[in-house]
Order: sequence, then C-alpha cells, then structure tokens
Amino acid sequence: MSQSAIAKEVAKRRTFAIISHPDAGKTTITEKVLLHGQRLQKAGTVKGKKSGQHAKSDWMEMEKERGISVTTSVMQFPYREALVNLLDTPGHEDFSEDTYRTLTAVDSCLMVIDGAKGVEDRTIKLMEVTRLRDTPIITFMNKLDRDIRDPLELLDEVENVLKIMCAPITWPIGSGKNFKGVYHLLNDEVILYKTGQGHRIQERQVIKGLDNPELDTRLGDYAAELREQIELVQGASNEFDLELFLAGELTPVYFGTALGNFGVDHMLDGLVQWAPRPLARETDTGEAIAAASPEFSGFIFKIQANMDPRHRDRVAFMRIVSGKYEKGMKMHQVRLGKDVRIADALTFLAGDREHVEEAYPGDIIGLHNHGTIQIGDTFTAGAKFKFSGIPNFAPELFRRIRLKDPLKQKQLLKGLVQLSEEGAVQVFRPLTNNDLIVGAVGVLQFDVVVHRLKSEYNVDAVYENINVATARWVTSDSERKLDEFQRKAEVNLAFDGGDNLTYIAPTMVNLSLAAERYPDIEFHHTREH
Ligand code: GDP
Repeated sequence: MSQSAIAKEVAKRRTFAIISHPDAGKTTITEKVLLHGQRLQKAGTVKGKKSGQHAKSDWMEMEKERGISVTTSVMQFPYREALVNLLDTPGHEDFSEDTYRTLTAVDSCLMVIDGAKGVEDRTIKLMEVTRLRDTPIITFMNKLDRDIRDPLELLDEVENVLKIMCAPITWPIGSGKNFKGVYHLLNDEVILYKTGQGHRIQERQVIKGLDNPELDTRLGDYAAELREQIELVQGASNEFDLELFLAGELTPVYFGTALGNFGVDHMLDGLVQWAPRPLARETDTGEAIAAASPEFSGFIFKIQANMDPRHRDRVAFMRIVSGKYEKGMKMHQVRLGKDVRIADALTFLAGDREHVEEAYPGDIIGLHNHGTIQIGDTFTAGAKFKFSGIPNFAPELFRRIRLKDPLKQKQLLKGLVQLSEEGAVQVFRPLTNNDLIVGAVGVLQFDVVVHRLKSEYNVDAVYENINVATARWVTSDSERKLDEFQRKAEVNLAFDGGDNLTYIAPTMVNLSLAAERYPDIEFHHTREH
C-alpha cells in the first residue's frame, strides 16, 4: 500500500481513552459517545462495572461478566469525517496496571470530572501517567443536571491540582433543575438543553449570537446573567491554543450531562477537530517510527486472559504504529526473533468480537496468544527495533504469597513470573529471605492471580499481609555505587520477575530517606520492558 494511502487512513483516526474517578460518569459517557458514533441503537446497552457489584472482588463472578464488559475493551466508531478508537480503562475493582498502560497506547485522553465533586484522587493519579508522554487532555465537566460547584472554581481546581491550564469551550447556563444549556464560546452560540432526551441523539437547539434577543425570550433573566458571566469568563480564563493543547499544557473544557446526553457531542466535535492523529512512537534505536511509514509495526500494551467464557484464550492487544495490518500477514516478533502468521486478529466493535480484514495506525487489534506474547513486545515487518514507552508501573499494593503445599515452590514461582510477564501483577523476591511478594496496582488482581495459579498451574496459594508501602526500580551510573548500595541496603532489596533490582520500602518516609542517603542511586517509578 502506498504511503499516501496510509496517510489518508491515519488522518482519519483519533485514538483516545477516558480518565476519571469511579462514578464520575465514564460508563455513561462511553454509552453516549457510542450512540453518537451510531454503534448503539439505544444508549444503555454497555454494561457498566458498578462499584459494589464485585465489592467482594469475586473473580469468578467477574469472569462471568467479562464476556460482556471486556468486549468493550476497544470500541471503534465513525464520527463526522473521523474514525474514533476509544480504549477502555478498567476503573472500579478491576483497576490495574492495565489501566495505566492503556494510557501509554493512546494519542489523547478525555478527562471526566463530576461537577459536584471536582478533582478526585484517581484522576490525579491517572493524570500523572498521561504526563509520561504529555498526552493532550480534553475535559468534560459532568452532571450539570445536578447542582454543581461554581464552574470558575472547578476550573481553578483543575489548574491548581492537575497543573494544566483550562480553556473553556462551552460555558454552562445554570445547573441542577435550572440547567438551561451551554454557551459555545468559539461558535458564539447558545445550545439549549432539553430533559428526557438521554437515550436519543437530539437535534441541537441553537440560538446564534449572545446578543440575539431570542435569548431573552427563551432564557428570561438567565440571558442577562449569562452575558455578564461570559464577559467575566472571557476575561478570566485562557483562550484555546492548539499548540499548548497538543503539548499537554492546556485542556479545552466542556460542560454537560452524560446522563442527559447533552454536551457529549460538543466534546466529540472538539476531539475530532483537535486531538492528534496517530503519533510517531520512539524506539530503542533512537529513531521514531511515523504513523504513515509504509512498513507495518505495532506493540503490545495489554494481555487479557479468559476474556470470554466461550473462548478460553488469551488475547494480546496491539496498538498499530505504522503500515497496514492485513488478514493472514506475516509479522516479525522482535523479542523472539520469530516470524508469525496472523490469520485471525480480533477487533471489538462495541459488542461482538469481529475479525478484521485490515487495520491501520491508531487501531487496536487483538492477537490470540498461548503464552508467547509479552507486554511491551514489538511486532514489525522484519525490522529489529523495539518500541519504548510501554513501562511497568510501581505497584501500590503488596502481599506475601504462601503455598498451602510447600513442595510446589517451583511451580508457584514459574506461575508468578509468567503472570507478571502478562502484566497481571508483579512479583518480588527479597535478597535476604525466601518470601515471595506480589505487588499490584488494583486489589482485584490479587484474586485473579490466586485463581489463575490454581486453574493454570495447579498451585494452591494464600496471601498474608506484609508491611510494604511501595517499590522502586533502582539503577546507578556507577557499578561500584550500586554494589555498595546492594550490600548496605540488602534487607530492602529484591529482584522482580525479570531479575531487575528493586527497592522495597516499608514506608514512604523510608523511601525518601533512602533516596537522600544514596544520592548516586536512581529510584524509578516505572520500568521499561
Ligand atoms: P463510572 O464509574 O465513571 O463509569 O460512572 P457511571 O457512568 O457508571 O456513572 C456513575 C453514576 O452516575 C451512575 O448512577 C450514573 O447514572 C450517574 N451519572 C452519570 N452521568 C450523570 C449525569 O450527567 N447526571 C446525573 N445526575 N447522573 C449521572
């Protein structure tokens, strides 16, 4: 395929993910986005993962539901002239390292904030991850049909807490029972809100121009108030700037209600207009691979086991970086130095698995996998480079894992190492004792691991609490200093599943003291594969 034909496909694509705190409205927005993308006849058919639904972290229950929820892992749909890929970011109990890593596979993010609550913890964490690549962020202030906080105050909070400038694109007129709609600052038009339209695509009711007398007729006293407010907002806030947005320094902000299906389309308009086309990706050779380069390449950012009870397999999710995927094509798996023929890649068109015939940069395809594919693997048309920027993230939760039958130590270790290669959890072996420490980003992963150890490795394991607050991968420019560190800090050191030296800190204070005490040692929060 010619470079210009690929460039044309690339230009159409926008690949993004949603970052939000649980219950801010990610699932609801996803539904509405798909409604606009004409992938759902009627909103309300994407099964959400409600808090409490697996409050007991029941893996079996979870797996049963997975057939439904996981088919929404990647959703592709057309919107206006664009083809949009929305990657799901596991959010409630299934929050995990996958959530973080998915953010390294997209070109932009939609940040959803509950307008009554403002910036919440999980959002802060996820924003940190997007900073690794300075990913452009679009913001949606949700739940305007409820009484929200003062919108200017909300923008201030985003600017101060998340350290990103806000440029409102729409501005709300009232909230709660008095939510009337929004004023679009760039288009100079008021778009009126109508209740009870949550499940349908509504025709926009637009009043052109802030000075339009029709506003007074339709909004009464709100019209004068709005004019005053807009003057204030225009004076007090940043104007939208495409360059700053693309650098991840400024976020366009939209107001609306996902439940009422109002404002989601305004946001989508901004997304397809401004969000980056599939970007070039860095490699270990120091050369970046542009999306429009004709040779095929891609990388694995997620592996999912037992996705669908009817197909008990593992699927590796690949982000295509360049070239074109065609059914039956041969790919080179760089880490193994092996060529593989891919006849049956999957995609997930908001519902059923479908086989893809072809796919382009920015698209995600699923490869069937019987344990030979790892997180971070690069596939090419034959070239030997590896993509960088698909890291492991320091776990945030830790437990000691112990066997019920001590004779199976070898199987346990093998299972844990393989599961860590899949990105399910991380495993650490302390230098000074025989403990095995499992580290995860989300709590459900612990149950997933015990369940899979039993069913795939025939090992019965249990957890015990352990006093670990965090872990950091350690390196140093000086081998001598690293050796010295290894001797002196031995009791806090461990090897991870890939034999990388890791500092295991009982408290955050301990970690900062160690960093002070050993200035020649670098403590890393992420580790490249
Ligand atoms: P998620 O956890 O971020 O996926 O959040 P959900 O989409 O499941 O929403 C959490 C709760 O907030 C659900 O009960 C939704 O119905 C509700 N919700 C979502 N968007 C809105 C909105 O715009 N207005 C109101 N009133 N409720 C909303």
